Amino acid sequence: MDFDRIFGELPDMVAGQVWLAGAGPGDPGLLSLLTLKGMQQADVIVYDALVSEEILAMAAEGVRLDFAGKRGGMPSRKQQDISEHLVRLAREGKKILRLKGGDPLVFGRGGEEARHLVENDVSFRIIPGITAGVGGLAYAGIPLTDRHTNSAVTFLTGHGEDGGLAKDIDWEALAKSSPVVVVYMALSRIELIAEKFLSSGRSPEEPVAIISKATTKDQKVVVTTLGRCGRDIERENIKAPAMIVIGEVVKLRRGLDWLGALAGRKLSADVSGIRPQGNL
Ligand code: SAH
Repeated sequence: MDFDRIFGELPDMVAGQVWLAGAGPGDPGLLSLLTLKGMQQADVIVYDALVSEEILAMAAEGVRLDFAGKRGGMPSRKQQDISEHLVRLAREGKKILRLKGGDPLVFGRGGEEARHLVENDVSFRIIPGITAGVGGLAYAGIPLTDRHTNSAVTFLTGHGEDGGLAKDIDWEALAKSSPVVVVYMALSRIELIAEKFLSSGRSPEEPVAIISKATTKDQKVVVTTLGRCGRDIERENIKAPAMIVIGEVVKLRRGLDWLGALAGRKLSADVSGIRPQGNL
């Protein structure tokens, strides 16, 4: 099947409609076909700071690009402003692609924007994207689950409503029940989070991976431990955006770091010494 036919069979953008889409973690190759089609058909793309330049460069010529995020320390446009902007564009009869990093419904306030569209009778589609907690780990060679280690995984945000840690989390219960924890927006909070885990009985030697700028050319992966991760973030000068992975699965990277292997590193399929985390 040629590309024109593949695209032709996908839905078209409609005037006055919003496509609320995920752009994935950074690598343009991880865009969905629907998002790519939206980038070709939209009149306006309203994008966040996490959407990479390379992805924006894939927009059709002449498409208006409206920045809705936070950059260079400038205050972010208020969520309410963005939602109202989308409604205004829809009333003007534009075809609107609302493009967010990763997946629009994972720590991305996509649900809030969609509810605002509902309140204002604006029709929309939701197009999922590859979230950083999935795509970023894959590019670091760390599985989310593995038969050798864990049968559950938790996605956590390092940022609560008021800028502190999320308040609705029972840290002790989480530390005791969730073998693998994947943390978004955690760089400035990791010491606090590590502290919560350590005081709930997790070992300071438990492996932790920090994946910065995942899936981009500047991706950097640092493997450390729960006891040392705070210091290592400073020492290694790790930059946002970054994901933090806590759990035994991090050790599996030694056999799955495919990007490293492409650059000449030798992988090891040996899983000895990697323990199941079912009974924490
Ligand atoms: N909706 C996004 C998450 C938005 S919250 C998604 O589904 O991925 C912003 C956080 O996402 C960042 O603080 C960081 O923790 C994570 N993130 C997004 N893109 C990333 C990337 N390329 N590399 C590492 N972390 C990323």
